[in-house]
Amino acid sequence: VSFSVVRVRIAPSPTGNLHVGTARTALFNYLFAKRYGGQFIVRIEDTDTSRSESVYVQNIHDGLKALGLSWDEGPDVGGAFGPYTQSERLDTYRPFAEQLVQQGLAYYDFTPETEIEAMREKATANKQPFIYRVEPLPAQEQQSRLNAGEVASIRFRVPRSRQTVQFSDLVRESVSFDAGLMGDFVILKSDGTPSYNFAVVVDDALMQISHVIRGEDHISNTPKQILLYEALNWAVPQFAHLGMILAPDRSKLSKRHGATAVSDYVASGYLPEAFVNFMALLGWSDPQAEELLSLSQLCERFSLDRVSHSGAIFDVDKLNWMNGHYIREMALPDLWERVRPALASAYDLSVYSQEQQWLMLDVVKEPFITLNDAVPAVSYFFGNSVTVEPSVQQDVLALPESQDVLTYAIEQWLPTVNFTDLALVRTALKGLAPALKPMKAKTVMWAVRAALTGRVQGADLATVVYLLGPDRVAHRLKQAQQVPAA
Ligand code: GLU
Repeated sequence: VSFSVVRVRIAPSPTGNLHVGTARTALFNYLFAKRYGGQFIVRIEDTDTSRSESVYVQNIHDGLKALGLSWDEGPDVGGAFGPYTQSERLDTYRPFAEQLVQQGLAYYDFTPETEIEAMREKATANKQPFIYRVEPLPAQEQQSRLNAGEVASIRFRVPRSRQTVQFSDLVRESVSFDAGLMGDFVILKSDGTPSYNFAVVVDDALMQISHVIRGEDHISNTPKQILLYEALNWAVPQFAHLGMILAPDRSKLSKRHGATAVSDYVASGYLPEAFVNFMALLGWSDPQAEELLSLSQLCERFSLDRVSHSGAIFDVDKLNWMNGHYIREMALPDLWERVRPALASAYDLSVYSQEQQWLMLDVVKEPFITLNDAVPAVSYFFGNSVTVEPSVQQDVLALPESQDVLTYAIEQWLPTVNFTDLALVRTALKGLAPALKPMKAKTVMWAVRAALTGRVQGADLATVVYLLGPDRVAHRLKQAQQVPAA
């Protein structure tokens, strides 16, 4: 089978927020479409009405958008093969199921679900595999019982002579299943809704999906889907099953290992571009062995032959490293825009000019892991006074030497500082330690920093002095002076 166009999709069920596994699947589909000039489609599989919720549809949309994974066709943007929400396609499935019944490839099953469940339990108790296959009732009898209003599901009849279902997976080469172990499976439930395996085949076929790229957890569904394609006489798409994303202990990634929703990572201050880069390496590796790659670079380099079929560990330390790297590399005005909303709700930013705001961020950003580190990092730039950490009070400010530094700084040094620009402040600060010789420069700077910021580490001190301005510098130096000697 050859497809002239690449058409790929993700088909999330809106039963939860956009999961990192689904997001990684979306990313690989998106990259594959971009690499080969195809289309990327979003289809919402919401036929499980008891578990599907519209808030999750919204969260999935928002998450994909935040990651920059735009789609060519989908519930919101439409397209030639819509609707793209399964619950709006319910009329689509029955005719195909009935066609299969007509052809003797499927049958109405009137056996109550409870009875089938009992059979399953009995088989399990006897350690037997449960393979549900019944011989269909004669067509007339099926019809007359239906006419009498009896409830029935439609089951696909696994061809009895079929021995194996084989397909070549683009990630794992040849995959083969024993057809003899497959039971006849429901394609249309007694309430008229399609089963997942049936709906996915009908939708993928009607939407002319060329490649089905999805998680390995669906690999055992694939033989059922292939039998349906064959029965319906439709072209079978190419399959590619991605290795799962695992927790560090190699178990399935779940909430007990930390956040699993993309929106949680975004809310925790991870940059979407860093998260995309990180996800790309969960199961794919760059031919040039590079690790830091933008979405557009990924679009150029991605191919399925470098995707692994084994599990990929979700390594938060690596994500943190990457996120910090992206933060440090980002242009300052862009970074400012990302952190501004959080800063604006914590502080009165209007006390600083735009240039001063950028400068402040520039001198504190170095150790950031996430964007959420910005609010605590700039706290001492706001307010008249500063909160001094108890250990800093004790170990630095309380020292007699520090007190000498403060006295000198207030009385002799501060009146000489020209605050009109940063370079002048820097020069003035350079002159402070020599004036206090033989005291060590380090001791001098520690005392000033502790008094002004309440901390022993942090931003470039000249910038701190410059941004605080003469009044607050004086106020904070004096406040620190009142600390009683140890
Ligand atoms: N609704 C299915 C899921 O969310 C889609 C699986 C598929 O891609 O076929 O897992």
